Amino acid sequence: MDKLSKLSALKGVGPKFAEQLQRLNIHNLTDLCFHLPFRYEDRSRIVPIAGLQSMRPAVLQGEIRGSTVLFGKRRSLLVKVQDATGTVSLRFYHFNAAQKAQLHTGQLIRCYGEPRRGASGLEIYHPEYQCISSFDEQPDEPRLTPVYSATEGISQQRLRLLHEQVNDLLEHNRIDLPDLFPEEWSAQWRLPGLREALLFLHNPSTDTNLKTIEMGQHPAQKRLILEELLAHQLSLFKLRAQVKADASPAFVLPKYPLLESLLTQLPFTPTNAQQRVHQEILTDLQQPHPMLRLVQGDVGSGKTLVAAMAACAALQCGYQVALMAPTEILAEQHLSTMRAWFEPLGINVGWLAGKLKGKAREAAMQDIIAGDAQFIVGTHALFQEEVAFAKLGLIIIDEQHRFGVHQRLSLKEKGRDGLVPHQLIMTATPIPRTLAMSAYADLDTSVIDELPPGRSPISTVAISDQRRPEIIQRVQEACSDGAQAYWVCTLIEESEALQCQAAENTAEDLRLALSNLRVGLVHGRMKAAEKAAVMDDFKQHRLDLLVATTVIEVGVDVPNASLMIIENPERLGLAQLHQLRGRVGRGSAKSHCVLLYKSPLSLTSKQRIQVLRDSQDGFYIAEQDLQIRGPGELLGTRQTGLQMLRIADLQRDADLLPQVQTMANQLWHNYPQTIAPLIERWLGESERFANV
Ligand code: ADP
Ligand code: MG
Repeated sequence: MDKLSKLSALKGVGPKFAEQLQRLNIHNLTDLCFHLPFRYEDRSRIVPIAGLQSMRPAVLQGEIRGSTVLFGKRRSLLVKVQDATGTVSLRFYHFNAAQKAQLHTGQLIRCYGEPRRGASGLEIYHPEYQCISSFDEQPDEPRLTPVYSATEGISQQRLRLLHEQVNDLLEHNRIDLPDLFPEEWSAQWRLPGLREALLFLHNPSTDTNLKTIEMGQHPAQKRLILEELLAHQLSLFKLRAQVKADASPAFVLPKYPLLESLLTQLPFTPTNAQQRVHQEILTDLQQPHPMLRLVQGDVGSGKTLVAAMAACAALQCGYQVALMAPTEILAEQHLSTMRAWFEPLGINVGWLAGKLKGKAREAAMQDIIAGDAQFIVGTHALFQEEVAFAKLGLIIIDEQHRFGVHQRLSLKEKGRDGLVPHQLIMTATPIPRTLAMSAYADLDTSVIDELPPGRSPISTVAISDQRRPEIIQRVQEACSDGAQAYWVCTLIEESEALQCQAAENTAEDLRLALSNLRVGLVHGRMKAAEKAAVMDDFKQHRLDLLVATTVIEVGVDVPNASLMIIENPERLGLAQLHQLRGRVGRGSAKSHCVLLYKSPLSLTSKQRIQVLRDSQDGFYIAEQDLQIRGPGELLGTRQTGLQMLRIADLQRDADLLPQVQTMANQLWHNYPQTIAPLIERWLGESERFANV
């Protein structure tokens, strides 16, 4: 017997209905199988009318004891139903003559609906009902009734009819739906088969514990959740394999004198962690295939130096290096660091940012394509299509864990002669390990798990903004003692304009209140040159206090700054607050961070602020953030597809991720033939799209 796959195999599905189903992302019978109920109703028991409870859907049966049309604000049909225990009213706002005739006094009726408190006691609006001839008729619902997510034009009833047909086909194994899990897994992981799991979830028996299903803990659900997560994991493995199959320049030399000179001229030596991570990177760079490495290191762990050390290998071999930062401020700062480190070594450091226009831009592009600029620092502008490199060997992306998988794939176009540049991605936003393994399965990861010596911990306090004058006084005292401070303004509004306005107002107020201090202002709407000038003034201690928006969130490095005030911390994510706070505590002076909140704080806000006060460990904070806000926020807009899960839920199912890892590796190595169909089944459209 042929296995079926097309929707048209079902009764009642014509071209128009098939098109409507597409809106539910249902394109074929498989999709329909995976279109699971989002809840279930127990219609197997008849509830005595006296036992009905408001808002609790139930099945009841009784005799109609009166049926009246009421002409109130809206015309309605009110039907009184009685059983041995009591009376309840059914109310219909939409009804026709036939219905009215059918619901006459004396008629026996069974109905299902949600009782609510109404004008005449408990009422059920528009119940589903059927007329019966005796109370002996048993409800024909020995199973829980599934409720599917429907959409305009597709009623619940109609979907159920489809699913009944599909279940029937599934039961008789007539749908083209191979079980892609290796046979030994069912015993090894105690999992039901695919068909069994699907049949159960579409039609659970009445003794099923609904709590287990609500929590996603039922083995049938786990079977499907694992399969979906596995498909995503494998698609990343596949992407990675595709990239790794490309050719890259191998930077193999017996010695790297440039690196030696760089290290000799530094006022400090790399930490053990920096050295270890450098070795990991160098090993990658010596391969004739692209490096794909993510370096995670908490704020202040010294990622910039690691990037510079990696750059040495490429530069030494005569290749260009591009360093991209997410904001202009950070890019500027990298530019000045790299100029200070590399120009004395005879390396030409170039600059390209979006705001660079006209002649200056043309000249910069010319230097890049001619190869005169060897180490190029910039923003996203670096990777615009019209920017061509002479001989790009290494791309470093700083503080951009949100850089999408597919965005990164496009970077390979920047290579020359069929050689794809190596990629190094650095982030201070630590992703909890299990999540990282899933979201970054296409990358190798290194962790800088040590801070340079001499850092003192930051003490963090939360203070209500009613005590603002005290805090201003504190800034006064700290700055008079020679310290520098940040005052960070945050606003929930999406509008950058409003944020900047708020920062301007705050700066104005603080200038008045602190007339003997030098107060600067930096925000996203200022011209690049202005921003750079202000940052430079702050760095050179020509300013005492810097009022800023969250543009200073990442990377900014001024070791003499030891006090930070953050307004409205409750509006930011924990990881972001941790980033911001990382701007202080970079020198040897004791540092402080004041979270100036608007009272009253919600319970969640209190919890979150407490986490920050308790810990300075970015990984711990990220774990907590994951608990409180869920993985979507942490992963940002990174296009792993993990945000578009159909059945799995990263937060709920996080504990399955290690198992998914193991399973993915087994399939990858031992059952390669299952990979493509699994990815196709779960990612279908999006996967095809990603590969164009
Ligand atoms: P992040 O990891 O947050 O990007 P940075 O690279 O900005 O950290 O480094 C933070 C500060 O620590 C910088 O001032 C940098 O010069 C300094 N630094 C980096 N490595 C070391 C080291 N091994 N010893 C002492 N200071 C270091
Ligand atoms: Mg940095």
